[in-house]
Amino acid sequence: MLGNCPECDRLWRGYAEAIRVALKITSHRQIAAIEQNSAACATLEPLYQAAMTSRELARKAITDHGFTHRTRTGKSAVETLHFLSRNALD
Ligand SMILES: [Zn+2]
Repeated sequence: MLGNCPECDRLWRGYAEAIRVALKITSHRQIAAIEQNSAACATLEPLYQAAMTSRELARKAITDHGFTHRTRTGKSAVETLHFLSRNALD
């Protein structure tokens, strides 16, 4: 995963940041929904959609790049990504 390939490092860091942003926006969105704050919901919805798109693009970039080589563990980057994705927000 990290350490062998500079491009993998860059892509994984980008994916981690995309997940961090998505989690933050999702939590604010859920709070706004619980509080029935329609103004906040309206403001957060496009940010939420953009965060989901960014997360998917980051995941796709890793998947696309991962087909070019395998990790030190013997697992492909795609297999590692699928494992991590199961533990991330979906
Ligand atoms: Zn790589």
